[in-house]
Amino acid sequence: MKRRISRVAVIGSGIMGSGIACHFANIGVAVLLLDVVPRECTEGEKAKGLARTDPAVRNRMAVENLAQAAKSKPAPLYDKAFIKRIQTGNLEDDLPELSAVDWIVEAVVERLEIKRSVFEKIEKYRRPGTLITSNTSGIPIGLMAAGRSEDFQKHFAGSHFFNPPRYLKLLEVIPAPHTSQAVIDFLLMYGAKFLGKTTVLCKDTPAFIANRVGIFSIMKLFHEVKKFDLTIEEVDALTGPVIGRPKSATFRTVDVVGLDTLVRVAKGLQQLKGDEQNATFSPPDYIQDMLDKNWLGAKTGSGFYRKTKGEKSEIHSLDLDAMRYRARKKVRFAALESAKRIDGISDRFPFLIKGTDKAAAFYRSTLGSLFAYVSHRIPEIADELYRIDDAIRAGFGWRQGPFEIWDAVGIRVGIRIAKENHCEVAKWVGEMQRKGMANFYRVDEKGTRYYYDIKTGDYQTIPGQAHYITLSNIRPTTTVWKNRGCAIEDLGDGILNIEFRSKMNAIGGEVIQGLNKGIEIAERDFQGVVIANQGQNFSAGANLSMIFMLAVEREYEELNRAVQTFQHALMRIRYSAIPVVAAPHAMTLGGSCELCLHADRVVAAAETYMGLVECSVGLIPAGGGSKEMTQRAAETFHKGDVELNRLRDHFTTIGMARVSTSAYEAFASGFLKAGRDLVVVQDERRIAAAKQCALARAENGYTKPVPTPVKVLGKQALGVFLVGADSLSAGNYISEHDKKVAGKLAYVMAGGDLSEATYVSEQYLLDLEREAFLSLCTEKKTLARIQHILKTGKPLRN
Ligand code: NAD
Repeated sequence: MKRRISRVAVIGSGIMGSGIACHFANIGVAVLLLDVVPRECTEGEKAKGLARTDPAVRNRMAVENLAQAAKSKPAPLYDKAFIKRIQTGNLEDDLPELSAVDWIVEAVVERLEIKRSVFEKIEKYRRPGTLITSNTSGIPIGLMAAGRSEDFQKHFAGSHFFNPPRYLKLLEVIPAPHTSQAVIDFLLMYGAKFLGKTTVLCKDTPAFIANRVGIFSIMKLFHEVKKFDLTIEEVDALTGPVIGRPKSATFRTVDVVGLDTLVRVAKGLQQLKGDEQNATFSPPDYIQDMLDKNWLGAKTGSGFYRKTKGEKSEIHSLDLDAMRYRARKKVRFAALESAKRIDGISDRFPFLIKGTDKAAAFYRSTLGSLFAYVSHRIPEIADELYRIDDAIRAGFGWRQGPFEIWDAVGIRVGIRIAKENHCEVAKWVGEMQRKGMANFYRVDEKGTRYYYDIKTGDYQTIPGQAHYITLSNIRPTTTVWKNRGCAIEDLGDGILNIEFRSKMNAIGGEVIQGLNKGIEIAERDFQGVVIANQGQNFSAGANLSMIFMLAVEREYEELNRAVQTFQHALMRIRYSAIPVVAAPHAMTLGGSCELCLHADRVVAAAETYMGLVECSVGLIPAGGGSKEMTQRAAETFHKGDVELNRLRDHFTTIGMARVSTSAYEAFASGFLKAGRDLVVVQDERRIAAAKQCALARAENGYTKPVPTPVKVLGKQALGVFLVGADSLSAGNYISEHDKKVAGKLAYVMAGGDLSEATYVSEQYLLDLEREAFLSLCTEKKTLARIQHILKTGKPLRN
């Protein structure tokens, strides 16, 4: 029977329960969120005359926890309105409702006896066949399942979400001894396809996979920092973005997680028999000292870093010898600077471990022991090596997992640096080498990725890939054309992909050339085009430094030509003979948002942050963005009855440079169109889904759209916009310069100061946009804003 998930119950509405409830609501599932009935009424409730029998009191825990979660940042919901999909209740009155759900997720406090008593209660109401999973981070799944009915045990497993559930990509699935294979397969599939997670099958071993390996790696660094006489900030510089790890690197991450939480898990792992490096989990003295002083990180105000008080607060770091906070020191490692100039993260590792300084020795030691550690964890925590890499990438935000890094430095070198640091790697690595297999992973000419499977002693494909397109895997054989900022790849079935590859994927001359070239090639030899990449962000927008240079040098002719070229490229996308599908993800700002507005369809990742942010740098969207938002508003005007609200909303969205916090919010902002554009929760599927969309459009007989005139309202709209900007300025909500920029935008979106509503061509609006843009480029305050954002990455209010 086909299993469908329409309604889920989440038991426990704390940090994790509320977050998990929100994420199910994000994907359209109805959620029942239950928590305990409070023991007594609060003073406030008593004052209102409420008794413990009132639902307002009985449901208080779940209601308040959910409300608090909904307010938290980053937002747990794709769209605030989705909270309506969550019904709150309590674990006494609402238990009968459990018979109507398809999946029960337990997320109550981490205590075995409490979890077991919750399961006992649930079992009375649960319909046979209903999935039931626990979010425990460390209680053995088998212990929780023991003693329950056969049907319960067959449908029971661990489903370990990470905090925050919407954003952290990992979902560990841990079978209990009697979980059916169908249930395990379903959880792995559903978690990936619909919840958008990297699902990792784990064994029921302490801390499962990600925390076992991730915490090992952190504890190792705790020991090495003193051995190599490094400072906190030096370790964070060495273990951050330069090697493809998050900006918060090691110590800042621990400050966020909480040192006590980390050490508690580590101490549990220290007891593990059969773990050859379990001494690493024992905290060094200075860590114990920090725990004694309650320096636990963000939650106690002091950790490895501390924010100083006073007018000019600064971040200080802990001197581990003196155990005192001091101003942060500049980190200087020549090798780090050189490594940053190497493009691919994989190519940096061999370079970084080669040096003779302490940074290189630190890398050799920490990586060597990590390689040895993960090699011994198979088959203990996973049968397949790729699961360890998947878990670490998704759970800890590393760009590459341990085996991938080992491949990058070379297997033989990895074995050597492990040995130099007194660690032996597991025997299977030597056997693999003797068979002449030189890597843990390989990719064939079609882009299919294989891993070395220890059980069969051969390469096997990684499951699930058939649904994904990974550009870095296919690029070597499918590139049709490229320049320094763009590559055009053949995705097969007559679909081309245009991939931005410039710095921050900014749109400059080379990207525009690539866009034109892609359309040209596709119109000649292909059926459709996808515009997608797998960089950190879809694109930061137009190349601002180029605009700045031309504006400062008063090369207005040149600037005019550059804007015109961009407008032409986007209009070419709009009016091409083949369907063009944009597939944005993450930051999709300015010019790249305009590009999406001109595509035939958009297939966006759920985590897409779209916005026309030009006004924040004192400009207006001039790649057709102002025009397109005017046109989209005009589509909502009723015959004879002009509806100004939508146009005013769009004007405000652009004027305030608002960025959507998800793809769903982008529908509300008007950047995406309901019934036309699509959202994909699992980002790995985005390009494949966009390709399918382009293919379906082509197969259904795509025809070039026919231009339609745009109704503009002239003075009627202009007056409303200017009065609005005036009152914001009078109330000091916006600066004089903001008012000037808003005035220019108003003029464009009103279609000029026409005396009555008129139909105009798209070109008319494009010309207005360009003129406004160029005139703003002559403004000193606009130039100051651009310069500031280029220098600091932050907007300037002037
Ligand atoms: P939490 O303390 O925020 O929430 C726990 C919830 O359990 C509370 O709402 C509480 O009212 C409820 N509860 C307490 N006693 C109960 C009882 N007798 N019956 C039913 N409910 C009861 O905890 P959390 O951080 O959300 O953790 C929940 C689970 O998720 C734990 O198993 C934890 O180990 C796991 N987990 C936590 C994180 C994290 O980062 N916080 C990450 C992954 C997994």
